[in-house]
Parts: sequence; structure tokens; C-alpha cells
Amino acid sequence: MIVVMKKGATPEDVKAMAARVEELGMKAHVIVGTDRTVVAAVGKENEADRQTLASYEEVEQVVAILAPYKLASAEMKSEPTVIKAGSLTVGGGVVGVIAGPCSVEGPEHIIEAARLVKKAGATALRGGAFKPRTSPYSFQGLKEDGLKMLAAAREQTGLAVVTEVMAPHDVPLVARYADVLQVGARNMQNYSLLEAVGEARTPVLLKRGPSATAEEFLLAAEYILDRGNAQVMLCERGIRTFETHTRYTLPLAIVPYLKERTHLPVVVDPSHGTGVASLVTSMCLAAIAAGADGLAVEVHQNPPKAMSDGPQSLTPAAFADMMARCRKVADAVGMTMGE
Ligand code: PEP
Ligand code: MN
Repeated sequence: MIVVMKKGATPEDVKAMAARVEELGMKAHVIVGTDRTVVAAVGKENEADRQTLASYEEVEQVVAILAPYKLASAEMKSEPTVIKAGSLTVGGGVVGVIAGPCSVEGPEHIIEAARLVKKAGATALRGGAFKPRTSPYSFQGLKEDGLKMLAAAREQTGLAVVTEVMAPHDVPLVARYADVLQVGARNMQNYSLLEAVGEARTPVLLKRGPSATAEEFLLAAEYILDRGNAQVMLCERGIRTFETHTRYTLPLAIVPYLKERTHLPVVVDPSHGTGVASLVTSMCLAAIAAGADGLAVEVHQNPPKAMSDGPQSLTPAAFADMMARCRKVADAVGMTMGE
């Protein structure tokens, strides 16, 4: 449930209310909005507790949240969450573009990639140093060396770094180098990892599991929020269906669906969503038209030579063309491409 405080409630009133919620055996999360502060009470709740909390002078109303995810729900927070991580802004009418190779391949390669995507208008650099590969014999990433290369690319270009963390014990290490921690699709229901990134204070890009429902996706975000990390971006990256003409199926209807149900920003990754470079630009345009707050796009200087995901990677020239077209669509739907 959420306890909506009256406009005049002081910070002490809010603190006291959070303590009362905890006394009743629920966890309290204080959410300060521009025109109201709410204390979210999460856990086992009942009508008697609702009435008790509603009876306090400084409380405007107590509202039950029907969705199974609480902190992620739109009822909890009426204003959209805007994520800022260095050069990257996602949400609040700004479309953030995270671009770069699937994997960090080497120091010069990632710096050149960063320069090229920045020139075309990307606001963050992506690149995996820890790679979740289907086969144990495929390239597994450069690990900490790769993280250092990403940090050097940030130093050179000013671009925020988005990179994957695969294991709970690696969260502190990756957070030392990254501006955004990516939780990969295969790990969306790795609850220990969700809890570990929830303990961090670095923003998280949570990718949808290829077989997860929208509700499971939001409940995965809830794990992170419940641990106190409020900076979560949801990333649709395609789901597994019977269809074979694309690598996954990119269900863009989830963008407006999520935006009805959550205050968290929504990012779309058409590279993994389609697996086919020639389809990526159209899906980026459609994602922005559908209301996406961000895009994640794989770009490689020489896709046929990429160490992973070459077939779905745009060349820098194709990416620049995509960005120019995205600006027009963003303009048409009242959004701004981040700068
Ligand atoms: C990636 O971003 O390169 C990646 C492995 O993505 P996903 O987890 O969506 O497959
Ligand atoms: Mn990839």
C-alpha cells in the first residue's frame, strides 16, 4: 500500500511514518515527488493496518496497490523516473542512445567505436567485458581488462559506459568502472544478481528474459528497487517465439504497455530483438514512435569481423543514418534525442 502524506508534512513526519510502517512489519520506502511524498509500505498488509495508518493527522490517504509489483508500479509514483548516468539521460521526454560493439575487443577498437558513435549522437557507450555466451567455447570477453578499456574510452570521449555484470560477486568490480550495470536477458531471473545490483547505487539496465512475461519482467525490477536501488531502466530485447525470420521477436507493444503500468523508463534493443542489421533502423524508429525512452544498438566498425553479434551490428555509417532518421521521428512525437 502507499501512504500519501499531506502537502504540509515535514521530513520528521515522513520519517515517523516510515518507522510506524516498519513497526507493523512492513518495509518502508520513502518516495519524494515534486508535489507529494509517499511512504510505500511493502510486505504483508491488511485492512486493519491500512486503517491505522490512514488515521494519522499528516496522512492524506492510504491506497492499496493491486499489482504484484509495488515499487515499480505507476500507482506508486505518478511522475516518470528519469535516469541520469554521466552523459546518459533516459526518460522525461529525452531518448538516450546507448551504442557500441557487442563485446569490448581491444583498447584502440573500443576508443574508435566510442568516437564514432558519439559523433553520430549516441549518449552512452555499450560493450561487454563479461559476455554471456551460449557456447562455452565462444569468446567470453576481456573481463577486467575490458572494463579498463571502457573506462579509457569514457575518459577520451566523455561517454557514459554501460556494461554487463554476470555474477553477484562481480558487482563491486563492474560498478567501479561502469556508469550503468547491465543485467543480461539470461540473468533476468537470477535473483541473487538482482539483489546484488539492488544493493549497488549505480543505475541498472535490466534486460527482459527471452521467455519472461511482462509481469515477471516488472517483478525482476521490483527485486532491484526493493533493495534500495531506484534507478532501473527496463530494456525490451526480444522474446523467444515460433518465428524464425528474426533471431528473437521484438514485441513493441510492450513499450506503451509498460508505460501504462510503471514509472520506470523503457529502452528498446532492436539489435538483439531482430538479430538482423538491416531491420534495426526501422525498429528504432518504431520504438521511438511507440514511446521508448531509450535505444540500445550494437555498432561495429567491421561487422563481419566482430567477435560477437556481427550480423546484427550496424556500421558506423548506418548508425549515423539511423540517428538522423530517429531525430525526425522523435520530433514528430514530441521527444528529444539526448545530447
Ligand atoms: C548484449 O547486450 O550484448 C547481450 C548479451 O544482450 P542480451 O542479454 O539481451 O542477450
Ligand atoms: Mn550482443
